[in-house]
Amino acid sequence: MVNSLDNNPPHKVVIVGGGFGGLYAAKTLAKAAVNVTLIDKRNFHLFQPLLYQVATGALSPADISSPLRSVLSKSKNTKVLLGEVNNIDPEAKQVTVGDEAIAYDTLIVATGAKHSYFGKDNWEEFAPGLKTVEDAIEMRSRIFSAFEAAEKETDPEKRRAWLTFVIVGGGPTGVELAGAIAELANQTLKEDFRNIDTSEAKILLLEGLDRILPPFAPELSQEAEASLTRLGVIVQTKTLVTNIENDTVTLKQGDEVKEIASKTVLWAAGVKASAMGKVLAERTGAECDRAGRIIVEPDLSIKGHPNIFVVGDLANFSHQNGKPLPGVAPVAKQEGEYVATLVQQRLAGKSLPPFAYTDHGSLAMIGHNSAVVDLGFIKLKGFFAWLFWLVIHIYFLIEFDNKLVVMIQWAWNYFTRNRGARLITGKESITEFVIADNKQPVNV
Ligand SMILES: Cc1cc2nc3c(=O)[nH]c(=O)nc-3n(C[C@H](O)[C@H](O)[C@H](O)COP(=O)(O)OP(=O)(O)OC[C@H]3O[C@@H](n4cnc5c(N)ncnc54)[C@H](O)[C@@H]3O)c2cc1C
Repeated sequence: MVNSLDNNPPHKVVIVGGGFGGLYAAKTLAKAAVNVTLIDKRNFHLFQPLLYQVATGALSPADISSPLRSVLSKSKNTKVLLGEVNNIDPEAKQVTVGDEAIAYDTLIVATGAKHSYFGKDNWEEFAPGLKTVEDAIEMRSRIFSAFEAAEKETDPEKRRAWLTFVIVGGGPTGVELAGAIAELANQTLKEDFRNIDTSEAKILLLEGLDRILPPFAPELSQEAEASLTRLGVIVQTKTLVTNIENDTVTLKQGDEVKEIASKTVLWAAGVKASAMGKVLAERTGAECDRAGRIIVEPDLSIKGHPNIFVVGDLANFSHQNGKPLPGVAPVAKQEGEYVATLVQQRLAGKSLPPFAYTDHGSLAMIGHNSAVVDLGFIKLKGFFAWLFWLVIHIYFLIEFDNKLVVMIQWAWNYFTRNRGARLITGKESITEFVIADNKQPVNV
């Protein structure tokens, strides 16, 4: 148990994961009399809420990524290690990175989640999800390659399939992707092609429930649907995807089964715990939920292991309202800060009340001058919601240079309606891909 120690040698806190949960835990411990080691398999923190803008060419990956060493360079008690933690030994109190064992007194695990295809992992090849920079680059290549292929295609049916974009999942990411692709088709790319009218692109947003943006108030879901429809997106709720193949999506709407010919299917539906969830459960006996998330105690520790904490998307914290907290950045941030404070309190021989999440609301961008914001006590839509969304995202971006670059880029995009990062990249020649029908590019 983390306890009042004389700090000689200093208490060792190991944080696995430099996302929102891990990074904010490390930042909160910056001035504490502990030794912190933050381990991440990537050397940067990724601001995932803006990934869809990389996927649709509005921003570049570096605009939303911050090197962890640079973010934590002023935290003199903190060491950053690049590496993937593959094992945890609670008895020996150490984690393993490759062959190296790293000792801890307190362990904070914040390795997040990844997308889930509800057991249909073979769909991933045809419907990539969005979680990493590589995913965003893959999506970007597929979206822009589809317009290129349509430009070359002479068969009207095949051309229609290239110009049909299906987005599965009507949560904030699905809504934001659909809105951004509609703007690409209707504005950004409109003058760029000679053989196709990009505004003829069909963008379908599919949602299994009876409304998009389920965490928002119903009137904001309606507003989001109306705004997307104005942009030309076809929103289909109560729609279940039953199969995805190379160029066909099969849907079920009530008793009706439909097939949609589409070359570009994007997945924004489910998430499941990252691989560390399984390792933690095996090593500590922790209970997991259906998504593989670790069910944590009211102080975010693992039952029977008061010095091991899980925060962020990997944690299932159900001690508030009986439902797990949502997998969003503010939850991860507040949990990381709470655990860091708890560690310091325990070392000082004090205690802390159980974790309690303060929900400041939900936001989703739809398009130019259009967003929805649900703050509980106030609901915003349209221009003011859009402005609020921009300010909040700039505020939460990690480094000053990211804030500045993104602000300038957005201002430029706003006035020109341009999206400058429209690169098709990948190992394979895209020209070959476009000519070789039915093949998707392989990307880095
Ligand atoms: C496309 C998208 C859009 C989103 N939009 C929003 C939004 O608008 N608003 C919002 O609030 N939330 C949004 N979210 C959710 C939000 O990003 C997450 O809730 C948040 O990032 C969770 O933080 P975390 O620290 O738990 O995990 P993450 O931020 O995912 O960080 C996990 C870190 O752990 C590292 N890692 C994983 N495994 C290992 C290992 N074995 N060893 C070492 N390092 C490891 C990873 O490299 C990563 O850096 C979005 C998420 C996505 C994917």
